[in-house]
Amino acid sequence: MTWETIIGLEVHVQLATRSKMFCGCPTTYGEAPNTVVCPVCLGLPGALPVANAEAVRLGVRGAQALGCTVHPVSVFARKNYFYPDLPKGYQISQFDRPLATDGAIEVETPERGTIRVGITRLHLEEDAGKSLHDRIPGHTAIDLNRAGTPLAEIVGFHDLRSPAEARAYLTTLRQLLVYAGVSECSMERGSLRVDANLSVRRPGEPLGTKTEVKNMNSFANVERALEAERARQVALLEAGGVVEQVTLTFNAGTGEVKVLRAKEDAHDYRYFPDPDLPPLVLDEAWLAAEQRGLPELPAARRARFIEAMELPAYDTGVLTAEPAIADYFEAIVAAGTDPKTAANWVMGEGLASFNETGRFAVAPARIAELAALVAAGTVSLQAARKIHAELVGRDASPIDVAERLGLVQVQEVGALEAWVDAVIAAHPDEVARFRGGEGKLIGFFVGQVMKRSQGTADPKAIQPILKSRLAG
Ligand code: ZN
Ligand code: MN
Repeated sequence: MTWETIIGLEVHVQLATRSKMFCGCPTTYGEAPNTVVCPVCLGLPGALPVANAEAVRLGVRGAQALGCTVHPVSVFARKNYFYPDLPKGYQISQFDRPLATDGAIEVETPERGTIRVGITRLHLEEDAGKSLHDRIPGHTAIDLNRAGTPLAEIVGFHDLRSPAEARAYLTTLRQLLVYAGVSECSMERGSLRVDANLSVRRPGEPLGTKTEVKNMNSFANVERALEAERARQVALLEAGGVVEQVTLTFNAGTGEVKVLRAKEDAHDYRYFPDPDLPPLVLDEAWLAAEQRGLPELPAARRARFIEAMELPAYDTGVLTAEPAIADYFEAIVAAGTDPKTAANWVMGEGLASFNETGRFAVAPARIAELAALVAAGTVSLQAARKIHAELVGRDASPIDVAERLGLVQVQEVGALEAWVDAVIAAHPDEVARFRGGEGKLIGFFVGQVMKRSQGTADPKAIQPILKSRLAG
């Protein structure tokens, strides 16, 4: 008998603001410890928080991109707990009146096709500081630079049925938030963090006890961690044991999950409305204007690429993975290149440099010029790739580079005829066989002409000349 896996994810993303959630401290990354702090984010007595309007706007934008209902009135609440890196003794969050609820996103999954995953809620909160366990031997150091960083917590409904679906959901969610400009969503830099809840049950039975897995630093590791936790729960149940409600941590080195602590219940946090902050009231007309101003989202862009540009679905998926890739592709098309050719350049040479450096090395207009040279037969595709390599990191005209490197193909009829005649004269046997019906020898003759021209002849221009000479 099989087990059904039930997964729900909570994702924290850092909102892409320049300053913190309730003070003016910058959100710059990688500063010396405890240097970007002030009385507000240090929780000093008497300091008063003021909500960051840009953080609110980005939270609204994220909620709208996820199809949520944004509430005109929401409330900031104190989530009370004691931890060394939480200077106030509470985190400002939202509890019973969150910014937004009841959204859903469509996710392409490996096993079940397109599924709908509910978004239970999106609320605003501030981040805590950081405990550093490896900085001072035998001690824990506290860095409060992160304290007060604006976050959106996105709670997904437990609609996911496998670790692979969890990964697909995260990929889709990240793509949406990056497109909407809400967050950088980098797990490496800590601007996207995932807590995963998993339980198993026999199909048709009530939900089993869920556990929470933390400490995963990539989407691939979320999938691995959930596979390990599923295996652990199934083994436990099949041996007649019970699943305890615990929090586990994933060790990417061993691929194992380890119990960290028994899970606290929500009421332990003694939530109450923050008396220092008024309710967050949003104007309905402003919300409607924000909804209209939402940038084109990935699904719409994919549909447009397939319909208006007649691109294959595979290409479309690659090109829309990130807005920067799609923008680059569209700029090449706008410069006059046909979409499929532009797609090939982006997916080949373009992505090679983008994946390495995070940016495209050659200007879209230069790619368009290069593609035009290939289309006109001025250079071969192979030569164009060499020219592209020369254009990386420096702006130059592709035709100038082609001339400098001797990559311009000879298309002049007189020169081509001379090479063709020389090849025909040198291979009387093959000529006789060709004339006797061995049509496939045409490739041999083209190869010989290319060899004689030292690779400079335009192979497309050779064919008609060869054919007419060989016919005679
Ligand atoms: Zn501050
Ligand atoms: Mn949270």
